[in-house]
Amino acid sequence: MNDSFYTYAVEQDKQDPLSSFRSLFHIPVNEAGEECIYLCGNSLGLMPKETAANMQQELNDWAKLGVEGHMHAKNPWMPYHEYLTENLAKLVGALPEEVVVMNSLTVNLHLLMVSFYRPTQDRYKILIEYSPFPSDRYAVESQAAFHGFDPKDSVIELKPKEGSFEITAEQIEDVLKEEGGKIALILMGGVNYYTGQAYDIRSITESGHKYGCVVGFDLAHAAGNLLLHLHDDGPDFAAWCSYKYINGGPGALSGVFVHQRHANHKDLPRFQGWWGHDKTIRFQMGDDFVPMTGAEGWQLSNPPIFSMVPVKTSLDIFNKAGIHNCREKSVKLTEFLLNMLDEKQLPGIEIITPRDPQKRGCQISLRMINPDKKVFEALTKRNIIADWREPDVIRIAPVPLYNSFMDVYRFVGILSEELSS
Ligand SMILES: *Cc1c(COP(=O)(O)O)cnc(C)c1O
Repeated sequence: MNDSFYTYAVEQDKQDPLSSFRSLFHIPVNEAGEECIYLCGNSLGLMPKETAANMQQELNDWAKLGVEGHMHAKNPWMPYHEYLTENLAKLVGALPEEVVVMNSLTVNLHLLMVSFYRPTQDRYKILIEYSPFPSDRYAVESQAAFHGFDPKDSVIELKPKEGSFEITAEQIEDVLKEEGGKIALILMGGVNYYTGQAYDIRSITESGHKYGCVVGFDLAHAAGNLLLHLHDDGPDFAAWCSYKYINGGPGALSGVFVHQRHANHKDLPRFQGWWGHDKTIRFQMGDDFVPMTGAEGWQLSNPPIFSMVPVKTSLDIFNKAGIHNCREKSVKLTEFLLNMLDEKQLPGIEIITPRDPQKRGCQISLRMINPDKKVFEALTKRNIIADWREPDVIRIAPVPLYNSFMDVYRFVGILSEELSS
């Protein structure tokens, strides 16, 4: 192994302003009790140590207070979702009234499409990213069908040029030139789960709006990963889950963004529930629904406190670390990973994630030219937790809050041994 990489890793870890954050997380260990190299924060983020005590607090208050906990718990439950708002808004570059945490991701995509996918006979198509996460494809196809359109004709998937995995701004513009007048909704990812490409939210939003399309984003792989500016970039809506980079625990709740321009758009069709009703008069139990201003107006049910706790705990950590600092370290980590991979010239793999740091987040996707899952299994045996995406990709995501440069260094060493053995 080229020792200058080793020296660099040691130096960077020493200078890393976020190095103390690793100790706030439980790092999984193998049967021998050794810490693994965890490179899977794109799939399930690690558990903050504080989460357990914060959960216990709410359990204790439930035991002690019963229903009184709604008003008298240490953190009264009635407004519990509001405790997450400010930090979440900062994390995604939104105004507080533009965000809310509720339900899970696919559920929220459907609820948002109820309001923002309003097809007509002339304009009914949905443009989606290349290789979308399957749930997103199922969701948009079922929305088109629900409105009486044939999903085969209604859903357009962007395709990269032959031999490439990257979607360019020109390709999006070309599709819009041709089909823009028929496209009701553009639903893009923030970072593609398979290729790791990060899309330019502002330019896609501007192009989409120019052609009269509604523009939404699924930010499952972007929230807690990229520096987002949702308010300024201006998409109409977005949603993401909190179990990937947001470390909110398995199946954690979803965040939702509805742009301010729709905040008081009370005539927008939506599915209604009592938690979306004006909270100042909610408990008058009136017959007429009056939506809350902003994203909160899309809530249906009273929030599940025990699911909110880990998300709140994690957002507090992000607030202390600062997403700017996270992103800065993340770019260095992936750059280091790519430089080492380049130097090694590993046989049988190609990097399909764009090289430009503006076009990627934490994740680097390594495509196996002759897919052989045995290599991945060997990594697992050697205490590396990464993930395998069918049919052919190993995804590696060094995460700035708890991964070190030494994690990356050790990973590339082990991968290189396994590929050459
Ligand atoms: C992880 C992920 C999902 C998962 O959806 P759930 O409703 O949380 O199960 C959906 N879409 C994308 C793009 C994802 O990355």
